[in-house]
Amino acid sequence: MEKVLHTLYHKNKVYCKQGKVASYIPALAKQDGEKFGVAVMDLSGKFFAVGDVEEKFTLQSISKVFTLMLAIIDKGQEYVFSKVGMEPTGDPFNSIVKLETMNPSKPLNPMINAGAIAISSMIKGKNNGERFNRIRGFLEEIIGEKITFNEEVYLSEKETGNRNRAAAYFMKDVGIIEGNVEEVLDLYFRHCSLEVNCIQLAKLAGMLANQGVSVITGKRMVSKEITQLVKSFMVTCGMYNASGQFAIKVGVPAKSGVGGGIMAVVPNKYGVAVWGPALDQVGNSIGGVKILEDMSKEFDWSIF
Ligand code: GLN
Repeated sequence: MEKVLHTLYHKNKVYCKQGKVASYIPALAKQDGEKFGVAVMDLSGKFFAVGDVEEKFTLQSISKVFTLMLAIIDKGQEYVFSKVGMEPTGDPFNSIVKLETMNPSKPLNPMINAGAIAISSMIKGKNNGERFNRIRGFLEEIIGEKITFNEEVYLSEKETGNRNRAAAYFMKDVGIIEGNVEEVLDLYFRHCSLEVNCIQLAKLAGMLANQGVSVITGKRMVSKEITQLVKSFMVTCGMYNASGQFAIKVGVPAKSGVGGGIMAVVPNKYGVAVWGPALDQVGNSIGGVKILEDMSKEFDWSIF
């Protein structure tokens, strides 16, 4: 695998030049679009890695997978899906257009911003600090080490995240969000600003590949049923409005974030992480998607 990975890395790194780093969150605009890393971990914990795999980036939307798991643990599936739907969307991740027209009014799924903000409101805790520590602690327990937080990205998004604010206040109005809207948004901006590198992200992915058991610590983190549920969302909604194309070309559950990370899961085999902050038009890492297409073909990863 090591040799093939090197070849595919150099072949696909050139695509990074064709993308653009996210700039709607001003702090993300500072990222270097030419960075590129890929890490694969098998279920014995063995790593194959190339490129900028030690550099930290913010999880952004990848965090939605983990908050969804916690919300289900906290509130149960019935409650969670009474507030948030299970259907993919052809609209961008930050779209609010369908919130009002859906009947009953609810965000389409937990992987788009509106859905994830609603999910954040379901995380239990005495206060926001405790809720945030639970999310962070959950990730730390999966990988067996500390997870850092990017204060600058958090503050930048908190200051400029008006579209997310609009979605959240609308959801408060129609009863999807309970509690203090600004607190819910604060928690959402915070969990989006947790940082990992490719090695850590591959460990997070490994837990999902391993049916809910951490590959690093051997501890069961979630039930097999919950991992199946989140992996289904990753297949249908994880790559935003390019999820259909990704399913056809790569064919594994995956979740991307505008920090440039993609967490991919090859069930029962590998946890995979790629990072390249230069994004395509949909908001997925441009080099990341390309290398995953090649890796899937080369190693026969498609689950379909
Ligand atoms: N924090 C980002 C936002 O809310 C996450 C979006 C993303 O990664 N697609 O816009």
